Amino acid sequence: MVDTYRHKGMRKRLVDSIRNKGISNENILSAMNRVPRHLFLDSSFLEFAYDDKPFPIGSGQTISQPYTVAFQTEILDVRKGQKVLEIGSGSGYQACVLEEIGAKVFSIERQKKLYHKTKEFISELGYKVRFFYGDGNKGVPSFAPYDRILITAAAPEISKELIKQLKPGGILVVPLGKTEIQTMIKITKLENGDLKEEEFGVFRFVPLLKNKAND
Ligand code: SAH
Repeated sequence: MVDTYRHKGMRKRLVDSIRNKGISNENILSAMNRVPRHLFLDSSFLEFAYDDKPFPIGSGQTISQPYTVAFQTEILDVRKGQKVLEIGSGSGYQACVLEEIGAKVFSIERQKKLYHKTKEFISELGYKVRFFYGDGNKGVPSFAPYDRILITAAAPEISKELIKQLKPGGILVVPLGKTEIQTMIKITKLENGDLKEEEFGVFRFVPLLKNKAND
């Protein structure tokens, strides 16, 4: 697993292009500058690894577009040392970006093959993300509550269980919608338990699947 000057140069260009698209949080940009995205894709796809595009990663799933990763992370407003739960580990890329920002990351994936592959690969890379296998709609109650919850698949509704696992003052970010197109929603759980909702434009994610995994 090598990260050469060429890869670093390609990565810097990608990060510059994301900055130009409007992401201004330098902590996020420099975190993305440190995660070797090309290692998350099959080596024959090097040329695609640093395009600002989503890409298939097997099991019918995709690694999110880098801009989308940056955008969701920016809305999530993560601080160093916070506990973050990610729903939809996929390739593990987003989880590594969160860890680079200084978060303690917990991530759940419902596709067993992908869960095993990602867990092994991310630990080889040296990250400490804790991966879980299961239905993310139920969260990971054993480590709750979380400061932040990030859903990286399209959710038809907001799981009450996830809201329960969010700390008062915590933030949950979710692409919400029942069709191919979703609205990015930021939910803040106020200290009195009320929820404040804000909308952040339109995105396309693979669907969040309900209940049992299809291994
Ligand atoms: N965050 C990922 C991209 C996620 S793609 C990355 O950085 O690469 C969405 C992921 O959500 C897919 O891997 C899909 O298998 C997973 N997923 C779908 N429904 C789920 C559910 N109910 N619980 C947990 N993961 C789910």
